[in-house]
Amino acid sequence: MMTESWGQFKTFEGKKFEALDPEFTKEVSTLIGGQDLTACFQCAKCSAGCPVSDKVNIQIHEVMRMLVFGFKDVLDTDMIWLCTTCYTCQERCPQGIDITDILFGLKNMAFRAGKAPSGYLSARQGLYDTGRLYPPTEWEREDLELDPVPEFNIDDTKKLLDKMGLMKLEDDTQ
Ligand code: SF4
Ligand code: SF4
Repeated sequence: MMTESWGQFKTFEGKKFEALDPEFTKEVSTLIGGQDLTACFQCAKCSAGCPVSDKVNIQIHEVMRMLVFGFKDVLDTDMIWLCTTCYTCQERCPQGIDITDILFGLKNMAFRAGKAPSGYLSARQGLYDTGRLYPPTEWEREDLELDPVPEFNIDDTKKLLDKMGLMKLEDDTQ
């Protein structure tokens, strides 16, 4: 039983999933560059070493099962956002499945499907507008006797972020 769920994400306990969609399984396999997701034999070694296993609404080996079954609900799991990308699961998998890389792909799919948590969206906007993920706190700097935060020209940063397509991730599928 999960101890808690995070933000917009709810527990999956007792949920009846929609019919499987083999095309979704194929799409995920292709995204990551030819993964054989059916190689997963559910040993759960990935979950056993996952540092966020007590924080997520579904375990990483269950995510892998959902992918094999083609359950698109996988895009609603908090695992894809709470994953620390530590690569422990990928290192441990006896079947050589690139689990963490798959999670990166799922994150992109979830983002394009409009399922990104609001905090991620505001962090992105803040980065684009100010060049910083978090506003610096002047009083902390004063306490530490640091110089004031230097001003910088945001235009160059914006040019770089525009080239990366940061604010257009949703348009990739259009
Ligand atoms: S470690 Fe690999 S084979 Fe085992 S459950 Fe996780 S993904 Fe599947
Ligand atoms: S990469 Fe993510 S899913 Fe894999 S063990 Fe680390 S936190 Fe867990």
